[in-house]
Amino acid sequence: MYSTVVVVGGGPAGATAARILADRGIDVVLVEKSPSYLKPCGGGIPSTAFSELDIPLSSISHRYVQKLRILSPSSREMFIELQGGSIVIVDRREFDMMLRELAKNSGTEMIEGRLTGVKQERKRIISEIVVNGEIKRVSSKYLIAADGVNSTVRRLMNLPPVDYVYTYSGRVDSVITDSCEFWFGSEHAPSFYSWVFPKPNGTSVGTGTLNHTKAKELFSRFTRRRAGIQNPKELKGYKIPIWRGDIYNIGRVLFVGDAAGHVMPFTYEGIYYAMKSATLAAEALIKDKPGLYRKLWKRRFYTRFRFMNTLKGHFLDSDEGIEKLFDIFKNPKVQEASMRLWLRKDTSRGGLLSYISLFRKFLS
Ligand SMILES: Cc1cc2nc3c(=O)[nH]c(=O)nc-3n(C[C@H](O)[C@H](O)[C@H](O)COP(=O)(O)OP(=O)(O)OC[C@H]3O[C@@H](n4cnc5c(N)ncnc54)[C@H](O)[C@@H]3O)c2cc1C
Repeated sequence: MYSTVVVVGGGPAGATAARILADRGIDVVLVEKSPSYLKPCGGGIPSTAFSELDIPLSSISHRYVQKLRILSPSSREMFIELQGGSIVIVDRREFDMMLRELAKNSGTEMIEGRLTGVKQERKRIISEIVVNGEIKRVSSKYLIAADGVNSTVRRLMNLPPVDYVYTYSGRVDSVITDSCEFWFGSEHAPSFYSWVFPKPNGTSVGTGTLNHTKAKELFSRFTRRRAGIQNPKELKGYKIPIWRGDIYNIGRVLFVGDAAGHVMPFTYEGIYYAMKSATLAAEALIKDKPGLYRKLWKRRFYTRFRFMNTLKGHFLDSDEGIEKLFDIFKNPKVQEASMRLWLRKDTSRGGLLSYISLFRKFLS
């Protein structure tokens, strides 16, 4: 079997890449190993993403959140009303299925199977996919690796695995909140945060850490700090990439979303950036120039990612740093500038520069 592009992984990144390519008349095969998989995820996506990426919301369970609640390590509390947009919380199983359905309706050929082999030859790439216990080979000009943080394609191509923060999270019915809550403190979330997010069904609670082995213990500590968390269900450990910005394409193989580590430092927002990196990779392949992907990504996102990485290193690694950041965030100008960049996804250079200038004096 031959297809111009094989996309491995049908999460937000892969399904988006496949849809855009198919919309442009390029033949594309999307390989997904478990179509009813529920990815452990808070499911929070800025509302602007839906119009920007032309994603309908009507067919899936979702809810809108208009408020953030932030707790500092010393339990100072701040509420921030979102302006000019909201956070949409989706059910990840339904969301991913819907994105794949959009890709299919655009003409993508779907294969339910697990990629187990990749061979790059001079003019084509051979993907080996296990379908119902049998190996199916698909030859293609390009391959898009959208197979998440544990990327098989990276492993098969002898690339280093994605660096990650380890999370431990679950769902509870015992907490009812109308805010996305971020709880900071090294006691339960060193160099990260713990969260409480309302979901379409129940509430997502979780914590993250660089220390893999301590995740469960830290989660228990968080449940002791945040009152009301009882009988968590669907508890699961999972990884969120730490951005390095080192891999875009190796020849005709392009890496997008978590497989490329494209998660915003500090906020650890991954869904939007998975879909955006996929659109840029697709744009490069539409022009038949795989190397263009790196340029497009860097032009659009590099300064933002690098700046957020600097903020993370400066403030998130100690409780004192987070207390300082908490004070900075009381300033309405900082709140508005953050809203512009993070919630409304303002792409103007002016928006970014005013954000950087607000923080510059605190970074020296
Ligand atoms: C606990 C937690 C909470 C999070 N909360 C948020 C949040 O609220 N908001 C946010 O923006 N981000 C959040 N993230 C990050 C977000 O989940 C990811 O960044 C996002 O899912 C990345 O999308 P992706 O398509 O790159 O990868 P994935 O969503 O991981 O999709 C990869 C797909 O590839 C498939 N696959 C893997 N290997 C193979 C193979 N060999 N063959 C075929 N198919 C394969 C998988 O089945 C999967 O469907 C969170 C992450 C975690 C762990």
